[in-house]
Amino acid sequence: MAAAHNRVMHSSDTPPRPSHIFLDMDGVLVDFISAAVRLHGHGHRLAEWPTGIWEDHSVLGLTPADFWGPIETHGAKFWAELEPYPWALELYEQLREIAPVTIASSPNQDPHCLEGKVQWLQKRFGRRFRDFLIGPPKHLMARPGTVLVDDSPRMIREFNAAGGRGILFPQPWNDNHPHRQDPLAYVFKQLERRTGMPAPSAVEKDAAS
Ligand SMILES: [Mg+2]
Repeated sequence: MAAAHNRVMHSSDTPPRPSHIFLDMDGVLVDFISAAVRLHGHGHRLAEWPTGIWEDHSVLGLTPADFWGPIETHGAKFWAELEPYPWALELYEQLREIAPVTIASSPNQDPHCLEGKVQWLQKRFGRRFRDFLIGPPKHLMARPGTVLVDDSPRMIREFNAAGGRGILFPQPWNDNHPHRQDPLAYVFKQLERRTGMPAPSAVEKDAAS
C-alpha cells in the first residue's frame, strides 16, 4: 500500500512524499570526529573546530596518511566503539515516521572499517538488523522521491545531481554550520519545505523554544 501511495500524483504546489530516506552514519548518527581527534591527542580542538573545513587532517596539521594511520591500527574496534550522537535514535525514529529509512555509510579504505560499522549497527539494532548499505557511491540510490541526509557536501552534491534530494546535515565542518546547535530542527524543516512533510511535533516544539 505504501508504494502505491507514493505513486499518487501531486499538484505542483504539493511536493511528493519521500519514498525512501537514506541516512548517513559518521557525522550524522555516529560521532567519528571526537574519537579520531582524541586518538591524536587533540581533544581540546573539538570545542573550537574551525567552521566550514571538511578535511579533518588539515585542522590537526596532519597529512591524510598520518591522520588515518593510527585509526587503522585500532582495526574494527575503533569503528565499532564510536559513540552515537545524543540525537541519533530520535532522528532515526522520526525519519521512519515519514518514510522507510536505510542507513547509508561510506567506509574508508581500511577493510576493517566495514566490519566495525556492521558491528556498530548490530550492537544498537540487533544482529538481525539488515537495513543498511555500506559503500561509497551513494548517488546510485538517488531518484525522484529519495532523500539523503548526510554531512558531506560532496555526497549531497552528487546525490542531487543524480536526481535525488540531499539534505546537508549541519556540522561545524560544512556550510550548514550556522544550524549546528539544532541540527534536527534543520533537517525536519528541510523535509517539510522540500517534500511537504510536516515536521514531527516534538521537533517543532524544540525548534520553537
Ligand atoms: Mg558522514
